[in-house]
Formats: sequence, C-alpha cells, structure tokens
Amino acid sequence: MQLTYILELLKPTKRKENIFLNNIAEVVKNRQAVAAKLKAGETNLSSADFKEINLPAAVKNQNIREVKAFHKLFLKSGSDKDNIEFKANQPICYNNQNYTIDHHIISIPFYTTKCQRFAFPVKQTERFEKLQQHIDSGCKLGKACLFYKRGKWYFAVTIKIAVKKNTNSNLMGIDIGLRQFAVASVKTHRGKEINCQFHNGKQAGFIRKKYRMLRRKLGQSKKVKAIKNINDKEQRWMTDLNHKISRQLINLAVQEQVGTIIMENLENIRNTAKSLNRADRNIHSWTFYQLQQFIEYKAELAGIKVEYINPKYTSQSCSKCNKVKKSNRKANLYSCECGNHIHADLNASRNIANKYLEQQSA
Ligand SMILES: [Zn+2]
Repeated sequence: MQLTYILELLKPTKRKENIFLNNIAEVVKNRQAVAAKLKAGETNLSSADFKEINLPAAVKNQNIREVKAFHKLFLKSGSDKDNIEFKANQPICYNNQNYTIDHHIISIPFYTTKCQRFAFPVKQTERFEKLQQHIDSGCKLGKACLFYKRGKWYFAVTIKIAVKKNTNSNLMGIDIGLRQFAVASVKTHRGKEINCQFHNGKQAGFIRKKYRMLRRKLGQSKKVKAIKNINDKEQRWMTDLNHKISRQLINLAVQEQVGTIIMENLENIRNTAKSLNRADRNIHSWTFYQLQQFIEYKAELAGIKVEYINPKYTSQSCSKCNKVKKSNRKANLYSCECGNHIHADLNASRNIANKYLEQQSA
C-alpha cells in the first residue's frame, strides 16, 4: 500500500523562503499553461514546450503529469467552467528521481537564475523516524511535494509499503452511528463473542452543539469568514477524534487476532440520520465516511482485511434469534422476546459480524 508522510521543514531562511515562493509562482504559471495546451488538444508535451517558465525541467515534467491527471478529472466532472483554474498556492512536486532524503536532510532542485539544488533539514519527529525505518528496510519512495500551509513549510513524501495479510480467523463487526460513534463486537469464526468496545458519541455531540451555537450567533451578523473558521476548527476536532477512535479499534483488533473487519456500507448511515436537519446530516455522513476511511487504512497497515456488508436490518434484527422486529429497538436498548436485552448498537455490530459469517458459509 502507499503511505504519505508529511514532514515539517525547519524554518527556512528568508532567502530560501523567497526562492520557494518564486518557484511556486512559476508552478502556477506552468500548470495554467499546460492546462491551456491540453484544452487546445496538444497532449504530447515536454518541458521544452515551456521555455519561458523558470523551473527545473524535472519540475516542469512533473507539472505536466499532474495537470494531465487533473484535466482528466475536469473533463469527467462535466464542469461548466472554461478550463481548470489553479490557485496561487500550488505545491512543487518532484518524482522520486529528483529528490533525496539523507538522514534528516532533504535535497531538491529549484530555479534561481539557473537550476540549483538546495538542502533543507526536516524536524526530527516520530513520523520521520518511521519513514526512515521504511527507507532503511528497502521500501520504494514515490512522488513528493513541497508546500506551504499556515506559515509553515512541509514536504509530503509517498512511499510504497509491502504489508503481509494475516490469516487470523477472528472477526470484528463495527457499527457506526450517532449515539455511539462506533461499537465493535469481536467474534470467533464460530460466532462466539470474545470482546467488545464502545466509543461514546456524547462528547462529539457536545462539541458540535457548541460550534452550532457559535455559528448561529455569527449568522445574524453575517461574518462569513468567522463562520468558516469555526467550521474548520470543528472539522479538525472531528478528524482528531476519528484518528483516536480508529486507532483504538485497530489496537483491539490486533490484540484479539482479528483477520477481518466488517462494516456497513454508508447508505445506512444516511438513513439513521434522517431525523437530523440537512447541515447536520452532511457533517455526519462526512465524519462517518472519514472514520471508515481511517479504520480501513489503519487495518490495511496491520494486515487486516476490511469487508463491507449490506446494512439492511442490522439494527432491527435480533443478534441472538435472528427475528426482525423494528419495535424491539427503543433508543439505546434492543429487547427481544427470546431474552436478548442488550445495547442496541452492540446488537447491530454483532449482526454485522453475523451477516458476514452467514455469507461466508452460504
Ligand atoms: Zn431474539
């Protein structure tokens, strides 16, 4: 699988920073020029077609590759815009032939008055240590980008990692929802539950309420920028929470020797969120989708397979006797005549695992 490591550069000198910024301005020009040629039907492009642009040839070639990919997406999107427009803050991208990482020093080419290599130290973080370990063990580096965000410079490096799938037979069903963010049921391949884990959504609900109130207050005075800041803050907070939840779920999966994680495809999440207003529903489907993505990629790293099942009846049916009865579910409790009285979301996560087992034996 491919991973991206985002490394923070130690603060560059003003002189180097100016070189970065000048090159970024040229990247914007270059990308726009490539897009114009693609629109005109010229597809056989090389760095020689952009002599007036002051960038190393390697960067121009990478721009051509990037813009070609963007152009395909642009055509697919059916946009009514005339062509792709590139914003002022473009990343400078390099393929793996054009940068080196030597201990904590990155070396990349720029254009000053000619093409020149510069070396930059990166912050020595845990993340960097991990990347170094992958490099030392022979993993192949891919594309990398230099970019600027909120006053800091970063170098994003992609690396291909070989992960061995484990052959464990235990399963983990995960139910993602509103009251409980995520509930996991760990089962053996015979269907016996050996562990479970709850991630309460209460704190998230509280935080969301706080941001909603802030937005409402501002809404009356129409401070668009301030509202956007609040939205960004809320999103960062949710992203952080999703990272924590997914990490804990995968830790449990590793501890319990899980070979397969099973989740519902997202349709169901939209249905359970029917009672909410539209803005809230959008936030929910976004955070749920993100949580699934985080679980998926952390599982892959741990060699755990991820499968999706059709969510039909997973919250209405009894995980013990299989009877489907909507009224058995009342808020947090699932209560069946057969004597099954459990947390409704745990019931759902058991059903998710059961459903997969049934499919396997069918
Ligand atoms: Zn029952």
